[in-house]
Parts: sequence; C-alpha cells; structure tokens
Amino acid sequence: MEIEDAVPKMTIDGYETVSQPIKRERYVSNSNTRDSNTFKIVKRVLLSTEPEIIEFECYSPNVAAHCKPGQFVIVRANEKAERIPLTIADFNRETMTVTLVCQSIGRSSKIINALQENQNFYDIAGPLGHASDIRAHMGNIVLVAGGVGTAPVYPIARAFHELPGNHVITIFGARMKNLIFWEQKMRDVSHECYVTTDDGSYGIHGFGTTALQKIIDEAGYSKTDEMAPKTRSFDAVYAIGPLPMMRAVAELTRPYKIPTIVSLNTIMVDGTGMCGACRVAVGGKTMFACVDGPEFDGHLVDWGNLRQRMGAYCEIEKKEKEAPLDKPEFKLLAKDAPKTQTPMPVQDPKYRAQNWTEVALGYTAEMAKAEAARCLNCPKPMCVKGCPVQVPIPQFIKKVKEGDFLGAYKIIKTANACPSISGRVCPQEAQCQCAEGSYGCILARTGKESVAVGRIERFVADYVRENGLEEKALIDATSGKIHPTILTGKKVAVIGSGPAGIAAAASCAQAGHHVTMFEALHKAGGVLSYGIPEFRLPKAIVQHEIENLSKLGVVEVKTNYVVGKSATIDDLKKEGFHAFFIGTGAGLPRFLGIQGEDLPGVLSANEFLTRCNLMKAYQFPYNTDTPIMKAQQVVVIGAGNVAMDCARCATRLGAQVTVVYRRRLQDSPARQEEVEHAEEEGVHFATLNTPLEIVANCEANGIKGLRTQVNIFENGEIKPVEGEINFHQCQMVIIAVGQGPNPIVPASTPGLNTTKGLITTDENFATSLAGVYAGGDVNTGAATVIKALGAGKKAGQEINKYLENINVEGVSETAGKIFYPIVAEEYQNLFMTEAEFEKK
Ligand code: FAD
Ligand code: SF4
Repeated sequence: MEIEDAVPKMTIDGYETVSQPIKRERYVSNSNTRDSNTFKIVKRVLLSTEPEIIEFECYSPNVAAHCKPGQFVIVRANEKAERIPLTIADFNRETMTVTLVCQSIGRSSKIINALQENQNFYDIAGPLGHASDIRAHMGNIVLVAGGVGTAPVYPIARAFHELPGNHVITIFGARMKNLIFWEQKMRDVSHECYVTTDDGSYGIHGFGTTALQKIIDEAGYSKTDEMAPKTRSFDAVYAIGPLPMMRAVAELTRPYKIPTIVSLNTIMVDGTGMCGACRVAVGGKTMFACVDGPEFDGHLVDWGNLRQRMGAYCEIEKKEKEAPLDKPEFKLLAKDAPKTQTPMPVQDPKYRAQNWTEVALGYTAEMAKAEAARCLNCPKPMCVKGCPVQVPIPQFIKKVKEGDFLGAYKIIKTANACPSISGRVCPQEAQCQCAEGSYGCILARTGKESVAVGRIERFVADYVRENGLEEKALIDATSGKIHPTILTGKKVAVIGSGPAGIAAAASCAQAGHHVTMFEALHKAGGVLSYGIPEFRLPKAIVQHEIENLSKLGVVEVKTNYVVGKSATIDDLKKEGFHAFFIGTGAGLPRFLGIQGEDLPGVLSANEFLTRCNLMKAYQFPYNTDTPIMKAQQVVVIGAGNVAMDCARCATRLGAQVTVVYRRRLQDSPARQEEVEHAEEEGVHFATLNTPLEIVANCEANGIKGLRTQVNIFENGEIKPVEGEINFHQCQMVIIAVGQGPNPIVPASTPGLNTTKGLITTDENFATSLAGVYAGGDVNTGAATVIKALGAGKKAGQEINKYLENINVEGVSETAGKIFYPIVAEEYQNLFMTEAEFEKK
C-alpha cells in the first residue's frame, strides 16, 4: 500500500533521508513487514525512579503518520506479553516516531519499562480511540494533569496552543518534586502554567485541584450564583491522570457548570472494542472507553467502581503463585456408545477438565471408513440441503469408503475452505445431521443415528494435513498440473481475518487479485483464534489455515491494524484498493443492564475468553504475562456456545461453575455436544433462572453472588414464579448473553448503511457503497463459522465479478504475471513464466 506523504526526513539508521515527496508504505506489525527497525526504541529516558517512569520514543511509522492528540496505542513488550494501552504522548511525522510514557505499576508495565534503547517493542497497534476535540477559538482551556497524565496532556495542550483564539492554562503536578517531568515542554505550549506537588516540595503546595480551585475563585466563580460577575470564564477543563484525581476535578467543576472532559484510557484492556472490560456508565448509558472514548464528559461518568475495576488484575498478579494444574493425562474413552454411530474417542472428563488439549481425539482411518460405510449415498441427499455451503457429502463419503482420502478432501474443498475447522465446530446436528424438518441425514428419520458427517470431514482434513498432502490436492486431475494463477494487479482489502475474511480472501486470491487482510488483533483468525478454546479447536490448525492462504496467490496479512482507526476505507481507497470485504464479526459484548454488573469480578465472555485463548492466560505466570481472574465459584450467565466455552475454561482454571439460564436446557442455542461435554466435566446448570442482581460483597472487594428469579415452563411459555428467588453464591460472574456487531468500520465509513448496527447488504453481499461487500457476523449478527465461511466465499466471488468490470490504470507491475499456488517454500512469492516453472 502506498500513500503520498510530506517530505520525510528519516533519521533512523538504515533508512535514507530523501528530499522529494515519496510514496510511503503504511507500516504495521506483521510477520511479512517486521524488520530490525520495527518499533525500535530510538530514545529511552528515565523520568523518575520511585515509581519508575520511562519515556520511550519509538519508530512506528503508521501510528506517527496518522495519530492525533488524545488517541492511544496498544503495546506488547514481547510475544507473550499482555496487551497494554498507552496514550500517545507525542509524535513526530518526520522521524516517524511516537513517544510513550509508562509508569511501572504491575508486572506488564515493569516488563515494558525494562526495554532498553535499540530494543524493539513487539507490537504497537493504533492509533486507537477518538481524537480530542481541538478547534480554534475555543476560549480559555484548562488542562489538568496528574502524575504520568502530563504525557498525554502535552500533545493536547500543544494542539490547542497552535490554534488562534485559544488561551491554554496547564496545571500539572505530582506527589513530590522528583516526579515532575516535562516542565519546560509544558511551559512552551501554555499561556499560563502552574506546577503543583502534594508535599509542597516544588511549585504550589497541594493537588492539581488546589490550583484549579484557586484560579476558579480568582476568576469570580460562585457555587451558588451562576450569574456572579467574573473576570474571565473557563470554556473547558480537561483532566488526565489517576482516576481519583479526574473524579476530584469533575466534582470540583460540577457546581460551576464548567464543561469537563476526562480521559479513561487507564481502564482499557484490549483496545479493539471487543472485550468489554473498559465499560463505563456515562449518563446512565453503558459505553466502552476504547470505542466511544477514551474522553468522556466527567460530570456524567459514574465513578463508583472504576477504581476497583482498575485494581482487579493487579491483585491477581500479586496473588498468583499457586501450584500448577495437575499433570495432564490422556485416557482414550469411547463415549457412551451411541446406538449406531461410530463413537468418537475423547479424553476422559476427569483428566480433560484439568488440561487444555483437545477433548475429541478424532477418528482413525478404520473408524472413518466404518462410519462412511453407513452412508446410503442417497441420490437426492437431504444432508446437502442442510449444509450452509453445500458440501457434496455423499460424493466425499463414497471416496472415504474406498479409502481415497485425498480424493475425498478434493471434493470437500470445492465447497468448504476450512474443513479441519468446520469438522470440529460446525453444529452438524442442526444442519447436515439434523433429524427434524426438511433437511438432514435420512438415517436420522429411520430410528437410527445420522451419519457422523462432521467427524468424517474432520478425519479427511486432518489426514491430508498431517500427511503433507495439501500440495497434491492442488493438482488438477486432467492436466496433472497445479493451476497457475494469472495476477490481475487489482487490490482487494479484506477487513477482519475471521472465517468470513479467510474465505473472501481465498476467493479473491484464487482469481489472481492482490489481497491484504487487515486484522485489529495481533493474531489472525477472528473468533477461531480469540474465542473458541484450544481444547475444542487447536490454534495450530487455525494458523495453518491462515498460512495456506498465501499459497493461493498474493495474500498479505496485516495484524494490529484497526480499519476505521489506523486508516479508514476512504484512506485505503486512496492508497489503491479497488474493492473491499468487511468481515469484522460481532465482537461487541452485550450486558444485561442489571444491578452489580459493573462490580469487579464481573467479566464479559469476550474478555475472559480472549485472555484465556489469545493471550494463553491459563499459563500465567509461567508462560505468559497476561493474568486471568480466578475464583472458587463462578457463575456463567447465558447458555449458548460462548457460555459453554466460558464454563469449561473456568472449570479448567479450577472453579466450581454454574451456568445460569432463564430458559430450559433444551432451548439452549449451544451445540448439544458442548452441553454434554460441559456436564461431563462437572459444570452445573441452573435453568429457568432469570438473573436479577449481582450482589456486592461488603466485607471484601468483589461480589457475593447472583440473585435470580425462578421461572416455570407452562403452556409453551417461560413464566416467573412469584416470590421465588434463588441465590447463587459466587466470587466471579461471566456474562455470555450475546455480542453485537463491531461498530468501528460503519462509524468511520460515510454512506455505509446499517440496520441495528449490522451492515446491510443485498443477496450478493454488496453494501450501499460500490465495491464494498460485507459478510459473516457483521452482516447477520452472531451466527456460525460455516455460515461466515459461506458468506465470505460468495462475497469474494461477487467481488471478482465486480472487478472484471473495473478498469485499473497504472497498477501493480505484477499484473499479468503467473503465480504457482504450491506449498514448497522455495517457490513461494516467486513469479515466473510457465516454462521457467517447468524447468525448475
Ligand atoms: P469473527 O470470527 O468475529 O472475526 C472478525 C475479525 O474481525 C476479528 O478477528 C476482529 O478482531 C476483526 N475486526 C473487527 N473489527 C475490525 C477492524 N475495525 N479492523 C480490522 N479488523 C477488525 N460457531 C460455530 O459454528 N461453532 C461453534 O462452536 C462456535 N463457537 C463459538 C464460540 C465463541 C466463544 C464465539 C464468540 C463464537 C462461536 N461461534 C461458533 C460463532 C462463530 O465463531 C462466528 O459466527 C464466526 O466466527 C463469525 O465469523 P466472522 O468472520 O464473521 O467474524
Ligand atoms: Fe449419506 Fe445421510 Fe447424506 Fe444420505 S442423507 S447421503 S445417508 S449422509
């Protein structure tokens, strides 16, 4: 991707200094673009020792080129480190560097601060969050900074100072003199400047609020008389620093009705709008600091429990030194033999409830053939009708019967991009193996169990992968050769790397288009990577499928790239992308709106699962720096797949888990197998219980339990039983009641139509904008992996049709060249003529 930019004077070693405007790459962290300069620390300054505060100036071209005052980045110090949000303290668009200031508080900030000059951050993702509202002629602006808050206040003060009609008053302070930093920098961007120390060792004795109160009093403000004559008025107060300080500023200005903005970046955990940990009630509405903020009206923020929430993981870090989980042991156990299906070998529940390795162990070749032999090869197969991507089921099962597993794989791949994934997580019992309605395996209607289509599919995909046969599967049966791809030179941006994005990228790459897949998190795969646990879907399989994409043509994966923040769709258009696929999923957690939901100890399912799966927090503190909340008794609210995953993860972390669900178990949208596995592992189900209130634990900092209304099922309806209340004792509650679409892309794309937040499309997945397509959960709401794969594939094909009619001028020099989609590493990304290839 290229963008026109101003004259850069690159002063970093190894980068040329050029005098003419150049086309410059947007630069983000990913395996393809990472080099020795990526996120290099070019300057490290110790600002204070007790506590340790470090200023880092780092080479981060994408953030430096696009950030604005008030925005933040997510950093990781190393591959296993926690994701930590840091507000951008300064930036230099010429040297392409950003300045970050970090105070050592917990384990992760200490790891960051241990990094030295010329070392590199592992990731710097951003810029994220809304920029501060900075305009000319805004009047008298007071900026109050406490402690490290000075760092994020600085670029805001500078931006106000540079514009006419703004009078900038800065008040910044710390506990004592040696904790004050950037005094001269702050004075340079202020018309008036006040320095305070709590102990009076420097400047004004007292807190920032002391100085603020002083200038408010001097101006003639009165708490009781709004009309009292004033020598000057204050048009806005910005407060950035520790929560108690921001709260104190907001309380101080409230009676005078001085508009007050606070920055809640300190409560953020993930930064991509998907974990819900940074939720905060503002004016009675739940908002997310990373999506809606980080700046909010300080007078509307509910300050009640923000401080407790902030401290929650610090407490865990302190306590976490407990004994490791019992040594995992495998035991093959045929599940209670079903009537007719070949049983799936699974780990014994007693052992698997203590380990994170895969529960279902997969068929052997003999088992797969035995199960395939049950198939009737129906001429009008009802199973195919139930499959969202119409896999030719009887045809591939016939090949399995014959022992031709590669042949079976080739047939599956004509319809399904990721059989090793869908074979594991598809709700087959409601699709191809359904026993009711107008589709599903015929055997299930004859008193027998359906053919275990999913298990056979999984076996075939695993067999081919494990035996290194994927390359062979690309060979065309008639020509005996691998089909080359002729590159078109046209560029497709795929936003989101979940199943929808993966399938769309595959379709477009197969047509010879250059595909760049943008992913907000540091790992591709969407829910497959961050949501579904390792014991259901090993992450190595997900990464293998992503790596396979590059073998299909020219696919580049850019992680840590939040489209809508790092760059908008309009920016990407200007950079030469001709078509777009939006597959950003439904990652925004929903909450119940009951009392106590904001207490520490209450987590969204997404936060809990992301910590467990993406950040491997279950290995904390041995193999990861991301801590996870644990408790003896955990309640999970909800009973879908997400709730089952939460319950089973919490069980593996050593908790007694109760799933609270307002309906009956048979109404649960979760896969039957997941419910059964959870029960076997000791999860308790409290059905017909509607959550009423999460009760605070008054003695300790946390929760005591969950009160629920007891219901009955009567005449097809769920009805509350008057006066019957249950109390579920617990120290932790996980809320798994659904997710909404991620709002960042629609909010930053004018003209992109949505309905209740979901991106609206026609039957061909075309949105209201020409060349922009969308599919998967962001289009349908939370659904299934196979539906997202199907939508991505079809949308990709529609994009290919759209691009046929688009004339592209002056595009890539690779247009017309040939790419051989093969596995052998030495051929990858090698463009050559057919003759050259044959010779090799
Ligand atoms: P996602 O998988 O959500 O991927 C979207 C990706 O887009 C994410 O990686 C996200 O980080 C990225 N993104 C978001 N915003 C941006 C942005 N602005 N810029 C760049 N990238 C962005 N389905 C099943 O069939 N079987 C199951 O067993 C099952 N279990 C599930 C368990 C859990 C815990 C969850 C949460 C879901 C489960 N589902 C299951 C549902 C299934 O995973 C989803 O329907 C499917 O993943 C949707 O795919 P998608 O590609 O639309 O979105
Ligand atoms: Fe085989 Fe069942 Fe499909 Fe018939 S309906 S082809 S028996 S899987």
